[in-house]
Amino acid sequence: MLEIRDVAKPKVAHRQALIQVTACGFCHHDRAVMAGTLRRGVADNVILGHEISGVVIEVGSGVARLQPGDRVVNILTEACGDCDRCADGREHRCHQGLGIGHSRDGGFAEFVALSEHSLVKIPEEIDPVGAALISCPIGVSLKAVRETAMVSQEDTVVVTGAGGGLGAHAVQAAIALGATVFAVSSSPGKNDLILELGATEVLASEVPGDDGLDFSEIVIAMTGNKGADAVIDTVGSALFPSTLRSLAQFGRLVLLGEIQGRSVTVNPAEIIFRDAMVLGTSGVSRTTVELASQMVADGKIRPVIHTQLPLEQAGEAFQMVSDRSPMGRVVLIPND
Ligand SMILES: [Zn+2]
Ligand SMILES: [Zn+2]
Repeated sequence: MLEIRDVAKPKVAHRQALIQVTACGFCHHDRAVMAGTLRRGVADNVILGHEISGVVIEVGSGVARLQPGDRVVNILTEACGDCDRCADGREHRCHQGLGIGHSRDGGFAEFVALSEHSLVKIPEEIDPVGAALISCPIGVSLKAVRETAMVSQEDTVVVTGAGGGLGAHAVQAAIALGATVFAVSSSPGKNDLILELGATEVLASEVPGDDGLDFSEIVIAMTGNKGADAVIDTVGSALFPSTLRSLAQFGRLVLLGEIQGRSVTVNPAEIIFRDAMVLGTSGVSRTTVELASQMVADGKIRPVIHTQLPLEQAGEAFQMVSDRSPMGRVVLIPND
């Protein structure tokens, strides 16, 4: 259930900063919690929203890197700053970490208090509403493309769900790294925008009819029978095994979204004889968020926003995301 409530302004604890929220993206994650399909680890009466852009208005004791007036975005986890994972730059997998807008309150609110270890200062020139997308989906998709799929110059990359939040930014991340991108989408209405983002071709993801070809066959044909060096898959089981079949020798299939929550059948030979890698990724570290923010500041990745709505219209955002109609993100504005 979704409701607007008056709650006390959060108090800053040791090493936390109080953020006035400028904008907060509405993620598929938020939809899944609202719909009741995602329950595991969700705190009672939690304030959702993990895609926060805001301004520091107060800092607690022990805060070293931030001061009032700083523009910030968050990583997706409230991190402790002390454990071995926080120490080696995997604070998004902090042993004491709590999912922001999941296991603890997030940014569908006027204010949120967050650990400084979970916050990244961003350059002034970035649009403050677009900045909400820097961690999720931009940082998450940049991590998938750059760190997990290890995409480099000359690579051919397939991105599925290319009109969605993760997909539209994965397309841009791969192109920024010098790759050629074949986008896969189920919404023909989004093709023009996907091409504008720099994709070479948009392929339909529907199951082929008598006259149609599966997108994997088109990928193989368009790469001179070679296949794609990497597939960034934001859709999951519904497109498997076409995603796997699209891979070239030594190809990497990176899974970062599962829409239907189903199982897949796989013939191990398809992986073995390709020398392929099938990899999963989620979340994003502070270092990658810093890189994402620099790429946005440099114009290499453009936050794709479908529309912005006042916080009171979160129900409309829920409907749009349920219908899978937005091209990019719907963003909520709490302090309108
Ligand atoms: Zn998200
Ligand atoms: Zn930690």
